[in-house]
Amino acid sequence: MHSRENSRPGEFFDASSDPAPSSNPESGRQIRPFLGIQFRCCRTYGRIYRDDERTQYKGCCPRCGSRVTVPIGPGGQGSRFFSAG
Ligand SMILES: [Zn+2]
Repeated sequence: MHSRENSRPGEFFDASSDPAPSSNPESGRQIRPFLGIQFRCCRTYGRIYRDDERTQYKGCCPRCGSRVTVPIGPGGQGSRFFSAG
């Protein structure tokens, strides 16, 4: 009757493993911040999304495809709405 002599290594490792189970890997799942913007070229409203370098918002007009960039100033942007075009 040697039943519990060899304890499963999985249980022991699980008991002493990572104490912070709330660490979710957020790689690729982050919501990219966007900026609501009015394109003057077509008088339409759209969104542009933040650059990976977090230095500017980039996007293009949904109608004519005109590209637009809004630089992010030091300390962040004061307003959430811009107009461009
Ligand atoms: Zn346009």
